[in-house]
Amino acid sequence: MIQESLERKARKQLYRAAKEIHLDSNILKILEKPMRVLKVSLPIKLDNGRTKVFTGFRCQYSEARGPTKGGVRYHPDLTEDEVIALAAWMTWKCALLDLPYGGAKGGIICDPKKLSENELERLTRRYTTEIMPILGPHIDIPAPDVYTTSKTMAWIMDTFSQFKGYTEPSIVTGKPEILGGSKGRKEATGRGVAIITQEFFKARKKSLKGAKIAVQGFGNVGGHAALFLSQMGAKIVAVSDVSGALINPDGLDVLGLIECVEKHACVIKHPGEQIDRESLLYQDVDVLIPAALENQIHRKNVEKIKAKIIVEGANGPTTPEADEILEKRKIPVIPDILANSGGVVVSHLEWVQALSGLYWEEEQVNAELKRKLVKAFKQVWEIAAQRKVAFRCAAYIAAIEKMAEVYRYRGIFP
Ligand code: NAD
Repeated sequence: MIQESLERKARKQLYRAAKEIHLDSNILKILEKPMRVLKVSLPIKLDNGRTKVFTGFRCQYSEARGPTKGGVRYHPDLTEDEVIALAAWMTWKCALLDLPYGGAKGGIICDPKKLSENELERLTRRYTTEIMPILGPHIDIPAPDVYTTSKTMAWIMDTFSQFKGYTEPSIVTGKPEILGGSKGRKEATGRGVAIITQEFFKARKKSLKGAKIAVQGFGNVGGHAALFLSQMGAKIVAVSDVSGALINPDGLDVLGLIECVEKHACVIKHPGEQIDRESLLYQDVDVLIPAALENQIHRKNVEKIKAKIIVEGANGPTTPEADEILEKRKIPVIPDILANSGGVVVSHLEWVQALSGLYWEEEQVNAELKRKLVKAFKQVWEIAAQRKVAFRCAAYIAAIEKMAEVYRYRGIFP
């Protein structure tokens, strides 16, 4: 992995759009810095009786547009820098999608695969208590991210509720449906990736039928994106996860792969031709969907990319240097803040349902998801065409213009 400061990378993307619209430098000064970053130590009793102290973070990047919102990531390589960049991206994403939120992100440096279920529960509950002073349904609302699940959200919700003395379902999103989780939330990010890909094809007056797609990362986002795109008629010809990669030019059996991952937690136990994990990125496909982690497409490997379009399922999978080269090569990149925004759109719907005590049917949730995504896509498409800029720059312009307007009305306190 390339050792580049992700926060710097996030800032470069912001500067590019700010320059394009001649953003007021006083507003840029605010947007380039996170509002609040909390670092916590988390002592946990392991099952073997020993104590281990983990490190956790929560960054609330901006609350200008509302309470902060963002996922919680458990990963051995997590850094404070990464959490800040991810919180910045959440901020622009919420502004682009017109959601009444600022951006946040958090996580714990840990390898969840090496912890028992009980250890993970204790770690999650301790993390929740340590960040509790800055949590709340109108302050900051966590959601799942890499290696956290609806169960993690249930533990956070329960811990918060125990301390408050009443049950507070609106403190997290992405929780189990029985606790007030929204129908369609689990699938929402992958469904959104598929909807945005479909809109892109429509805008280019092309059909998705038979389009060849490679998906890097077959977790929540990648697996669901592959499923919905195959239902739309596309051919998923290659998939990968941390265990390896599979390829089939005639199209892989996506449902079979999902079952395989549910059973064995990896794709390579599924029958099929295996290829090197990295070479998935270099397949000659119509669409490449990086849906794993950051920095996957970088200066050193970007020339090997043969895909005609890149749709970012993951957050920050393309470095700014790679972005510039892709732009020169006329390979469009549909940026993360648009392509993977389906998750936060339905998280918002889940929060609204929890605050109002209502449960919506899945059709209602999915219809609202599609409406919001299509609207944001059209906005980005139009800005890109009018200003002749890349889609990422267009998406940032849409987002930061809204942020700037908010600051113009609210002013700077005191
Ligand atoms: P997940 O934990 O469900 O899945 C991650 C997948 O990536 C797994 O299949 C893992 O094996 C794979 N992976 C890890 N390293 C890899 C590598 N080097 N090569 C190939 N595969 C690799 O996580 P997720 O929720 O699907 O999140 C994936 C990305 O999408 C992250 O960047 C996350 O921030 C972003 N995202 C997630 C959501 C959401 O709702 N879950 C929303 C927006 C963005």
